[in-house]
Amino acid sequence: MSVLFDIFDPKAAPRPIGIDLGTTNSLVACVRDGRPECLRDCDGVALVPSVVSYGARGHVVVGAEAARLQSAHPEDTVASVKRFMGRGADDPETRRLSSLRFEPPTSEADSRVVRFRVADRVVSPVEVSAEILRVLAARAREELNGVGGVVITVPAYFDDAQRQATKDAAKLAGLEVLRLLNEPTAAALAYGLEKKQNGTFAVYDLGGGTFDVTILRLDDGVFHVRATGGDSALGGDDFDRAIAESRVLPALGVTAPGPDVRRLALDLARRAKHALTEHAEVELSLPREGSAPLVLTRAELDGILRPIVERTGVACRRALRDAELSPTELTGVILVGGSTRSPTVRAYVRELFGVEPLCELDPDEVVALGAAAQAELLAGEGGVDDVLLLDVLPLSLGIETMGGVVDKILPRNTTIPAEARSTFTTYADRQTGFELHVVQGERELAADCRSLARFTLRGIPPMPAGMARLEVTFSVDADGLLHVSAREVTTGIEQRVEVKPTYGLDDDAIEQMLLSALDHGEDDLAARRLAEARIESEQVLTVTRQALATDAALLEPGERDQIEAAMAALVAALDCANASLIHLANEDLERATHAFAGRRMDAAIARAIGGKQLGEVERSVEGAKGIEAHLAAERS
Ligand code: ADP
Ligand code: MG
Repeated sequence: MSVLFDIFDPKAAPRPIGIDLGTTNSLVACVRDGRPECLRDCDGVALVPSVVSYGARGHVVVGAEAARLQSAHPEDTVASVKRFMGRGADDPETRRLSSLRFEPPTSEADSRVVRFRVADRVVSPVEVSAEILRVLAARAREELNGVGGVVITVPAYFDDAQRQATKDAAKLAGLEVLRLLNEPTAAALAYGLEKKQNGTFAVYDLGGGTFDVTILRLDDGVFHVRATGGDSALGGDDFDRAIAESRVLPALGVTAPGPDVRRLALDLARRAKHALTEHAEVELSLPREGSAPLVLTRAELDGILRPIVERTGVACRRALRDAELSPTELTGVILVGGSTRSPTVRAYVRELFGVEPLCELDPDEVVALGAAAQAELLAGEGGVDDVLLLDVLPLSLGIETMGGVVDKILPRNTTIPAEARSTFTTYADRQTGFELHVVQGERELAADCRSLARFTLRGIPPMPAGMARLEVTFSVDADGLLHVSAREVTTGIEQRVEVKPTYGLDDDAIEQMLLSALDHGEDDLAARRLAEARIESEQVLTVTRQALATDAALLEPGERDQIEAAMAALVAALDCANASLIHLANEDLERATHAFAGRRMDAAIARAIGGKQLGEVERSVEGAKGIEAHLAAERS
């Protein structure tokens, strides 16, 4: 009986979790005893700084410890990796910040993913995010009896590539994604708004380095994103800088601070900022002999922060305009993000929207709490249909037509999952193929939108222009990911593609990362494989070079060119430090030198026969490979 009890104890079953994978901080939450709550470390801290620091021999540190390592190892420590998710190496956003070393892309496909060189390896944003997710999942596993699926939140404006990259990171961390959820929707769910009322809400999210505002409309349990906006370079970090520059550095008596002093000043500034959220005045003792402590009041802080906070108003007013609303038409405003703790920010939001913002839930935790609630619903039985209808498409999806114009098949704000079709025709006589270019965005010209995929429907029988009828179907699943199929109606020729956004990581690449992630931390198998491949190749190259020099007479016409081309390809493969490429190039070189090696062996045998008895010759033939090696050694 007790055994049965154990088996059916619902608490013993793996639990669904919700994760807020933030730019500055990340959190994990789950529903316990019917209420969502954040999972904390042994010191009671829920926030995990989204910082990953890499060391030698596969060593990886995540969170507060990594944040501490940042000043000593700025190049090996990745912070704010969310800004790079789904971004290409030449994306302007990619280069804007960061002390990181960017790995130059080696091919066009490669340039779709930005990569950083850290310590002894090269990593992509997906891999860095996976490290953060692993730590959060480990915390959940420790607290719960296993993790049974996860809802991860993403900004409402995240495009297909950024969403796909987030899902890939989860896969890499060994997590099953129940679905991705828009952050503002998660915040609204945490407040249970979907159960209470229809209406229009603004979600005001001010984090460490980013500001996002979203206007959500709630209709019978379905949230529509009416408008999004924000500033990707505005947040609590700007507060810290302003406080440091106007008060802390002058008090320290430094006019031209070096990086260490700057960091110290920023640290003091942040501590003062946090303290002034609770208290009317703080006293900071300065690490400078004989100097009086720095006293800062809330009113003074207000004066410093106000001009920065007012910059959020620009994006808010624009979002309201996009949603065709005036502030007074809002049902409520939800505060999200650590910086909305600040009284200056709260006062400004109250003024701007003319309502008392909802802030009973911790603004740091509210997104993770909503994600946990959603995970619980998705993992549970019943009611799934209702909750599947929670979101809408953030950006329009369409097809490029004649003249580079976009035909929008699924307009933005369509509730997902969704499906729509559109019919096209051929524009040239006897056209037997039709190239489809799938794009995402609001602009009219395909060139101004984000390219998601290209594919060709072939085998259409030759017909006069305009006769073929091509039916293109777009369907978007609950995660906001797109599947496209095209069918020529008169012949029934059909093709389906799953539109994996072309940001560079295909299934194989993910699989590869998954494999190398399995033994992550203990013994970096991938790095070892690479090192072995490298050593082997370098030997092969040396031996081949020597053979070309000494046995040039044995080469057939054109053979040297072929061998040298294969050698150059191997050298190039070594340069990009990719074990499987090196392996392939090695095989190619082996093929290119095969006949030449045979002739050299024959020659070696002939030389051996020249001065020896038959028995020795037989042994020489058996050890033909040995001769080869022996000759190489002799000549070096
Ligand atoms: P993100 O969404 O970018 O991951 P968070 O929502 O975690 O960021 O917000 C981090 C920011 O919140 C930091 O700039 C931090 O200084 C600020 N913050 C945290 N607590 C407080 C507080 N008590 N008063 C003012 N700002 C705070
Ligand atoms: Mg956040």
